[in-house]
Amino acid sequence: MRTAYQYKLRPNKDQIATIEFWFDLLRRQYNYRLGERFSWWEENRCPVNACPLIMPIPQLKDNPDYYSQKKDLVNTKDKFREYKRIHSQVLQDCIKRVKLAFDRWFKTDKNGKKLGKPRFKGKGRYHSFTYPQIKQDCIEENKINLPKIGRVKLIQHRPLPEGFNIKTVTISRKADGYYVTLSLEDKSVPSFNCDVKATSENTLGIDMGLKDFLLTSEGESVPIPQYYRSSQKRLKTLQKRLSRKKKGSKRWLKAVKAVAKQHKKVADKRQDFHFKTANELLLKADVIAHENLNIKGLAKTRLSKSINDAAWGQFLTILTVKAENAGQKTIAVNPQNTSQDCSNCGEKVPKELSQRTHSCPHCGVVIDRDVNAAINIKKRAAGHSVLKARGVRRGTGTTKREAHAIP
Ligand SMILES: [Zn+2]
Repeated sequence: MRTAYQYKLRPNKDQIATIEFWFDLLRRQYNYRLGERFSWWEENRCPVNACPLIMPIPQLKDNPDYYSQKKDLVNTKDKFREYKRIHSQVLQDCIKRVKLAFDRWFKTDKNGKKLGKPRFKGKGRYHSFTYPQIKQDCIEENKINLPKIGRVKLIQHRPLPEGFNIKTVTISRKADGYYVTLSLEDKSVPSFNCDVKATSENTLGIDMGLKDFLLTSEGESVPIPQYYRSSQKRLKTLQKRLSRKKKGSKRWLKAVKAVAKQHKKVADKRQDFHFKTANELLLKADVIAHENLNIKGLAKTRLSKSINDAAWGQFLTILTVKAENAGQKTIAVNPQNTSQDCSNCGEKVPKELSQRTHSCPHCGVVIDRDVNAAINIKKRAAGHSVLKARGVRRGTGTTKREAHAIP
């Protein structure tokens, strides 16, 4: 199992200077390697009107890849001696980022969307670097020992979990200062156990609400917290203020910083809320069932809920990780018709999105529309052992591909 812990750093002036110096060198290196790859593409593209029937095909130059670029770092260090001041593995990791950015460009993501062309990074736009390896005892008291930077003070607001190995360490600059992210791995904890069986007793169904954050199959609702709304309102005010400032001016820069800080605040509050909600749910049931987001594209009636969608995905990720840590489970079920089918008798009761209550003409049950959906979600999960449910998840993935094939 893998998890990540993030702590705030309190570097001194010298350490900040070093970190910022590295950011800029790595940014230049990143841009240079990206350029190397782009120009290979330019040079080796065959123009349509220059069909190589008569002309001999010119020798292809070597395509710069991860390994050749990594090897070439020696030359960089030779020409630009300041690169010797960066930890060599951190520099290598920069080449890896170029590779990943390039790979992503050619692949599609899991939703079948093409991702954008990698971009050159402007000044200040490169704000993290990674040590791919580090000593396990790098944290002592309230300091972390970063190779070639030194011992940097950190605020350990919670201790590292026992029995974990530190895999990678990433230093990043955010709106309100510097952070360290530790990626931890524990091989001794099995990443899933298949003993948990979803039954109608131990399973809770949840559905994203239109007004509330979520509704459970027990009819309980979790509202979106007021402070979250107010911090979002504050963000809007700040954004408006920013738009009135002259771009590039001192006041503008100040406003940009204020917006960035508020953005982080909103994100932090949201995450905090997600953690709390996940904990509460996992106290209520062993298995939490939710709709499979990957095939949600099919369920058109849910469109207007999409404002919440991004946050919902993040919440489900947190819920799943938390559940696995506690030996509990989440199950993703097929979302088709969860709001249309009657959770009591199973008959289909078509309704518009504006209809907020489910009132069944067949069996006479009258309940909230989203609670009806949550009960259906729970019912779909019950009876599946978790192992089987995983299979179901994969199976629904195929449904999606089939759905795409239909014109
Ligand atoms: Zn009914």
